[in-house]
Amino acid sequence: MPKVNQAFFDLKRNYVFPIIEEKLLEMQSKFQGETILNFGVADVALPLSNSVKIAIHDALEEMCNRPIGYAPSRGYPFLREAIAKHLFNEMDIAPEEIFISDGANTDVANLGELFDDKITVGVTDPTYPVYLDSMLLRGAKKRITLLPCEESNGLKPTIPKEKIDLIFLCHPNNPTGTCFTFEELKNWVDYAKVHDAILCIDSAYRAFIQDPNIPESIYQIPGAKEVAIEVGSFSKSCGFTGLRCGYTVIPKTLTAKSGKKKIDLHALWLKRQNTKFNGVAYPIQKGALSTFDPQVQKELKNQIQYYMGCAKFLKETLLSKNQTVFGADNAPFLFWKIPSGFTSWGFFDKLLAEIKVIAIPGSGFGEKGEGFVRLSAFTSMENAELFKQRLEDWNPS
Ligand code: PLP
Repeated sequence: MPKVNQAFFDLKRNYVFPIIEEKLLEMQSKFQGETILNFGVADVALPLSNSVKIAIHDALEEMCNRPIGYAPSRGYPFLREAIAKHLFNEMDIAPEEIFISDGANTDVANLGELFDDKITVGVTDPTYPVYLDSMLLRGAKKRITLLPCEESNGLKPTIPKEKIDLIFLCHPNNPTGTCFTFEELKNWVDYAKVHDAILCIDSAYRAFIQDPNIPESIYQIPGAKEVAIEVGSFSKSCGFTGLRCGYTVIPKTLTAKSGKKKIDLHALWLKRQNTKFNGVAYPIQKGALSTFDPQVQKELKNQIQYYMGCAKFLKETLLSKNQTVFGADNAPFLFWKIPSGFTSWGFFDKLLAEIKVIAIPGSGFGEKGEGFVRLSAFTSMENAELFKQRLEDWNPS
């Protein structure tokens, strides 16, 4: 009998969603007919854009008229060119440096394969769980440094003193809703240069940035092309969570070592994708392409502004109740500091029992998330207003 990958036993954290689902079902049967406000999930709350539907439909028609089979594993040139032009304009990113994927999750989980399994890894605490768990599955448990994000540092990681080979950063951040400034990202790039480190930036929520002073991409920072990979997604910005399309930028200037030799990571990832990935479906890539059409851009920007309107409303509601809240200004997440005396699971139970609200306990994102709950703004304004009503006579303490 073969031995299993022992690293599975390093995944100690209970995945929060099944537990929440169970508690939700229990509450639904107890309070039949009452609306439970679910601010837990970060999934689309608005329907797919009709223009995207038409683009996908047209691509399907095309497939009925001529044979269109496997997509190139790195993605069709039309989509790579559009991404380079619209998302990396003036950042010197070429279409060949972009790889199309079936979502950011797949790539952030797999990028570790580029590196030796003895490298050191940095992950923030709290974190979007995939960076940590995918590296744990590669057996990296003893070589992972957690970078605390605490109130004292504005819920952002401090640059480590020691050398860490690969560091995952999420900007704008899920779960904390915070963003890095130009200067902070520049400090990370400088760190990576001094220590020969690689940064992996997850920019899945890039489209939600409202403040023009916040960088949209790491490649706006001079020198980032020598030290950074950036992963992006059509999921949240274009309503593609159920369609699946993302991209990863691996500049040709990015290297890692093999003995004394410098190895081109772009070429390695191409080899990896050619080996393991048979590409994203043609209609989905056509749908993703359509999101760059000026008319569709307008529609999608309205959707984003709708979610950000919900974020602002939820935040103002909490602030009016004298609560401490992070995020929501440039990201569709609120990280709510819960009143003292509660654990985040304890406060989750209180919210659900007393005002029928679901939030994600911060401890589900790491130890330093304890003391917080995360609210997602992927909801409706009606739900946000109901939240306000329910909070009116409610005592959070
Ligand atoms: N990265 C972050 C930070 C996310 O929050 C999510 C989804 O919630 C993803 C990546 C996954 O994106 P995709 O749907 O493109 O796989």
